[in-house]
Amino acid sequence: MSYRLTLLPGDGVGPELVEATLRVLDATGVKIDWDVQIAGQAAVEKYGTPLPDQVLESLRKNRVGLKGPITTPIGSGFRSVNVALRQELDLYACVRPCKTYPGVPGPFENVDIVIVRENTEDLYAGVEFDVGSPEVAQMREWAPGRIREDAAVSLKPISVSGTRRIVEYAFEYAVSHGRRKVTAVTKANIMKYTDGLFLRVAREVAAAYEGRVEYEELLVDAVSMRLVTEPQHFDVIVTPNLYGDILSDLGAGLIGGIGVAPGVNVGADGVALFEPVHGSAPAYKGLNRLNPTALILSGMLMLRHLGENEAADRLEAAVAKVIKEGRFVTADLRRPGDDRVAVGTQEMANAIVRAMREL
Ligand code: NAP
Repeated sequence: MSYRLTLLPGDGVGPELVEATLRVLDATGVKIDWDVQIAGQAAVEKYGTPLPDQVLESLRKNRVGLKGPITTPIGSGFRSVNVALRQELDLYACVRPCKTYPGVPGPFENVDIVIVRENTEDLYAGVEFDVGSPEVAQMREWAPGRIREDAAVSLKPISVSGTRRIVEYAFEYAVSHGRRKVTAVTKANIMKYTDGLFLRVAREVAAAYEGRVEYEELLVDAVSMRLVTEPQHFDVIVTPNLYGDILSDLGAGLIGGIGVAPGVNVGADGVALFEPVHGSAPAYKGLNRLNPTALILSGMLMLRHLGENEAADRLEAAVAKVIKEGRFVTADLRRPGDDRVAVGTQEMANAIVRAMREL
């Protein structure tokens, strides 16, 4: 059997990381027939738009995709392809596992946290009003003395339905992945209506899982400190959009950096788009220098999503072996004082392929 899946090579270092990842996925023996689609800068050059309709059609049809990072041009008038994909496909759950593999440079061992970030609401909804606008003038009347005349304003919508589906997703994830605890992270002591609503709905959802999954509530400031002092405290974290964005990068820092942090965006109708946390790092384009691990581990998560657990286990074990041996790793995985020569993107992928054959 062969899977028909969408592939978006992306911009910057995307195509070379995708090339490395495809070789590794191919070596697992899982047959994939890639429906290659162009989005981002290459699509602007070819079709005059960074997100041609056929990309969305392909993802809706194939339901599962792998994506290299895509550059967001600043000041070109085109909106972010990454944000547009989330909105068009209603990819409401951003799931970012933060797991240490022995050998990665970093302050901790045995970190194994999954951050589930709401992806469609909050301050990311894009409802902003500029300084001097009539909307800000009106809002100043609603809240006398609390918005300065020279202020711009962003709105933070958080809904019952949006919260319920993300918290349910986090609990279902915990159940299906054998996780023990879900922590709801907010700033509900200050934002009593928006974050307060998130917390109230989270509590309601948690009640349905009582006895199966533990539930706790923490404030985002306390979580930030605890993540860098006692990350083992955490298991699954569920949180609104902006806190999730920040905590995800913090989580990447805990496990050895952005070069090893994978992720997936999941939609209401089952579309799942797997991609690394990092961006397109355009300065490194074509240099064969950056770490392919984040995209390779995103591919590993994709195999698990497809039910190809044996192949995913072998792939993850091979990545872990190469990182632990530390001979064929990219420069970001070198600890200070380890002056062995770092290898390139493709050489690290080749080492993972060899390790998989030896397992
Ligand atoms: P970035 O591309 O993630 O790169 C920032 C830095 O992170 C790089 O300079 C490099 O650090 C390190 N890095 C990134 N990927 C790495 C890898 N695979 N291995 C090792 N190190 C890696 O962030 P950015 O420069 O802010 O963004 C560049 C473009 O990507 C922007 O247009 C942004 O909008 C876009 N972006 C896209 C996505 C997405 O497609 N989902 C996500 C984020 C950003 P050193 O220079 O220290 O080596």
